[in-house]
Amino acid sequence: MKQKRFILQENELPTAWYNIQADMPTKPMPPIHPATRQPLGVDDLAHIFPRECCVQELDTEHDFIPIPEEVLDKYSFYRSTPLVRAYALEEALQTPAHIYFKNESVNPLGSHKINSALAQCYYAKQEGTTNVTTETGAGQWGAALAYAARVFDLEAAVYQVKISMQQKPYRSSIMRTFGAAVTGSPSMSTRAGKDIITRDPHHPGSLGTAISEAVELATTTPNCKYTLGSVLNHVGLHQTIIGLEAEKQMAMAGEYPDVVIACFGGGSNFGGIAFPFMRHNLKDGRHTEFIAAEPESCPKLTRGEFRYDFGDEAGYTPLLPMFTLGHTFKPANIHAGGLRYHGAGMIISQLLKDGLMRGVDIPQLESFDAGMLFARTEGIIPAPESSHAIAATIREALKCKQTGEEKVILFNLSGHGLIDMSAYDQYLNGDLMNYKISDADIERTLQGVPGE
Ligand SMILES: *Cc1c(COP(=O)(O)O)cnc(C)c1O
Repeated sequence: MKQKRFILQENELPTAWYNIQADMPTKPMPPIHPATRQPLGVDDLAHIFPRECCVQELDTEHDFIPIPEEVLDKYSFYRSTPLVRAYALEEALQTPAHIYFKNESVNPLGSHKINSALAQCYYAKQEGTTNVTTETGAGQWGAALAYAARVFDLEAAVYQVKISMQQKPYRSSIMRTFGAAVTGSPSMSTRAGKDIITRDPHHPGSLGTAISEAVELATTTPNCKYTLGSVLNHVGLHQTIIGLEAEKQMAMAGEYPDVVIACFGGGSNFGGIAFPFMRHNLKDGRHTEFIAAEPESCPKLTRGEFRYDFGDEAGYTPLLPMFTLGHTFKPANIHAGGLRYHGAGMIISQLLKDGLMRGVDIPQLESFDAGMLFARTEGIIPAPESSHAIAATIREALKCKQTGEEKVILFNLSGHGLIDMSAYDQYLNGDLMNYKISDADIERTLQGVPGE
């Protein structure tokens, strides 16, 4: 197996995150209050989230935001992550393209989510908080938060969607190993949970129920803050450490990407690798292309509409301007659990509207075909989410094969799939299928969207 890896020394690590809001030609529209329709400020958000995260959320001025010393110190436990030239994949595809990937699976939790979990827990600790809470579906975010809370000596309470807890038992074991209290949602521990269970004793849980419980816990418990693993601007900000490192590592390789690709759930790993390169399109006349790979079964970028919509199924959050399928959209039960979200983050939605990036949708079987080829060529079993980025990369590399172009393609490997092997089993046994949704289904859930 021929491979070339580029690693940064500790003194070469980036020391500030990149805030693309400062450079956007059109700033993202603000989150608004559902009843008053007034834009929300830092004070409106700071009773739920750590205050510094709220400041970052709404900062459209500062292009670089220093990473606190303590966070940098924790990053250095596992960063830099390798940038890898995927020679074996190139060879298998017989493509003239140069394929690179940034390997975010190499850390204690196995996905990129730890980059923001550490920052959010640090800020929570700084302001005197003792407890953090969150929701998790498949469990990657909950696991990252449980670890980060341990690192900063905070108590973590995670509400995990009940049905996911049963289907993916190892992720709750990981959270509990790091000391988090994990509760299946809906639960009897909150008023919201009791109400749901009273109405429907066998409710399987959803991100909507888990968000309501976590937010209720944060707002009713002194010294407790709520955290979120994707979608919001400050989460994408923390993830830019990925692209800022990749920028330096591509320079070590003597190349610059023509195409940057990442899979897309709410946008944090895509923004993380893309924004630092997009900066050079916005400021220095570069022409890199940016592609976000979403599942065919949850196509908010390619088939959703730009609207003000709720961030959660139950409609408890502020209204956010986003490309959405409607907050009541129920995605098929595909294995890329991290990509089953109905909307796109606010920054990404504006960038897509302005034509600065594009989305592609990938059928489930194509994503697994791509993941298998990647595993067999590069020796890493990718997360089902990440396989969507690999599939989009393969499409681009095969185009290069036809045209003879030697494009440089960079994609983000957002995580490994070692706790998703039951999904691989189903694929290998021929039991997986595609889920395409009809226009009528999308139209139906879009009718329930409050904003125009
Ligand atoms: C959560 C997750 C995603 C999707 O979330 P984004 O915020 O869109 O990045 C992708 N890959 C992995 C491995 C994840 O855990």
